[in-house]
Amino acid sequence: MTTPKKGHDPVCGMEVDPKEAAGKSTFQNVTYYFCSQRCKEDFDADPVKYLLKK
Ligand SMILES: [Zn+2]
Repeated sequence: MTTPKKGHDPVCGMEVDPKEAAGKSTFQNVTYYFCSQRCKEDFDADPVKYLLKK
């Protein structure tokens, strides 16, 4: 399991401190952190969409 020091919100692109993240999700053994519950919900609805974006 990968636990980065600094999280990166894949939905909005913000850097998120894991300690202050509003939410987190694990997808394919990688943990993602989110600035808000809203971003987490968007990610959970369709993780692949956000991971392929970039
Ligand atoms: Zn966000």
